[in-house]
Amino acid sequence: MTTNLVRVRFAPSPTGPLHIGGLRTALFNYLFAKKYDGCFILRIEDTDQTRFVRGAEDYILEALNWCGLKPDEGVGSGGDYGPYRQSERKDIYWEYAEKLIFSGDAYYAFDTPEELGQLRTEYEQRKETFVYDQHVRLKLKNSLSMSNEEVKSLIDSGNPYVVRFKFQEDQELVMQDIIRGEIRVKTSSLDDKILFKSDGMPTYHLANVVDDYLMKITHVIRGEEWLPSLPLHVSLYRAFGWEDNKPEFAHLPLILKPDGKGKLSKRDGDKGGFPVFPLNWMDTKTGEVSSGYRETGYFPEACINILALLGWNPGTEEEIFSLKELVQKFDLSKVGKSGSKFDPEKAKWFNHQYLQKKSNEEIVFEFNQFLSKENIHWDMLKLKEIVALVKDRASFVHELWEHTDFFFMAPEQYHEQTVKKRWKEDSPDLMRKLSGIIEDCNPFTAEALEQKVKSWIEDNELNMGAVMNAWRLCMVGAPKGPGLFDIALILGKEEVLKRINTGISKIS
Ligand code: GLU
Repeated sequence: MTTNLVRVRFAPSPTGPLHIGGLRTALFNYLFAKKYDGCFILRIEDTDQTRFVRGAEDYILEALNWCGLKPDEGVGSGGDYGPYRQSERKDIYWEYAEKLIFSGDAYYAFDTPEELGQLRTEYEQRKETFVYDQHVRLKLKNSLSMSNEEVKSLIDSGNPYVVRFKFQEDQELVMQDIIRGEIRVKTSSLDDKILFKSDGMPTYHLANVVDDYLMKITHVIRGEEWLPSLPLHVSLYRAFGWEDNKPEFAHLPLILKPDGKGKLSKRDGDKGGFPVFPLNWMDTKTGEVSSGYRETGYFPEACINILALLGWNPGTEEEIFSLKELVQKFDLSKVGKSGSKFDPEKAKWFNHQYLQKKSNEEIVFEFNQFLSKENIHWDMLKLKEIVALVKDRASFVHELWEHTDFFFMAPEQYHEQTVKKRWKEDSPDLMRKLSGIIEDCNPFTAEALEQKVKSWIEDNELNMGAVMNAWRLCMVGAPKGPGLFDIALILGKEEVLKRINTGISKIS
């Protein structure tokens, strides 16, 4: 391992199912790591016990696994910088908080939640917002405003306290972001964020920065929602004296609702009937199930491809990329800073493309699993012929069913409007004659059948549409499906004759 090896981490909090935005963050970290032969790390940030959700960590692991984004190090993979679950690193963080108190970059604060709540209300009444910052910190109950003795006695007598970061006064922080360029923020606009909570746990900010440092992270690639934390994180690196080991930062653009108005949420998925999570997720409290890409029938390759293009632009018209190709082509400098609209129709289009790329054998394998659940067991070679006929009409394996159900079940009902429009007085007679032609067709091949049926129509000056429409009604029950000669061949002569017979008696 060389010292300048690229080391990136995906650091989700197990607070619920992983949103596709989170999965995209994982993907971009993975692509960046692989592009530079680096290390992709999975760290679970579970310091906020109040937001912990059972099952969420397993869900994250399963989702990454489904997409083929295997971490090189981390929870579930091991590694030299573990443990990788922050709740198992609890004992590490306090010493860092103390270090900052000692250097004057952090302080104890004893204000109770009630006192702070009261202040907030008072400010609101004056149409102002209370912020715990450089302007008010000396007027509050903390180790900056109190004597050492007072502080010691409060701590010794068991008073709860938090540790807050003390931003330097009236400074301008100049930060760099790979995607956004230079960012400047004045410390006078920043609040003294809590680093350590009264429950003895570090906050996200402290644990995140300490772990990035200890795990030798070289690039922090994360969602735009963490941009407001950047001034604090950069200031923490300075305060710890780690500036030379500070990672580079890249804040990814938001994934927007289909209409572009705001961040894509679960509600948008519910409303638009598309998933916003990689896998199904059941809320154990409400029993409500949110649908996942996997269960909706998306291929993991399609899901990856969809996500890659939400924010990253290859710079060409090309749209279909395998994970391997993405690794080669991915470039953080081609990630834009403005949000990308999620387009549910385009997502389906991607799956359609991947379905077409799959071999018929692969599709048959999956389709057969679908059929088995319906208790339908057919010869695989026949299934392969069926799949070949209708594959281009489907975007998902399960959609093959609506294009092929009549193969497996003879029609019991006949599409009413089509019957009205297409089943004429002479239809039964035409069908009887057609039966004769079919009966005499030997060998029973699609070409021979087509040739025989067509010559019969021509020789007798029949109307081709009238014959074919009535025949389709008998065979399929509805105006859908591939070519009738192909259907006939798959069903076999006997079944074709049976369906025509049933049609004559049932439709008429
Ligand atoms: N735990 C944070 C999250 O849930 C990680 C943010 C970061 O990558 O720094 O997204």
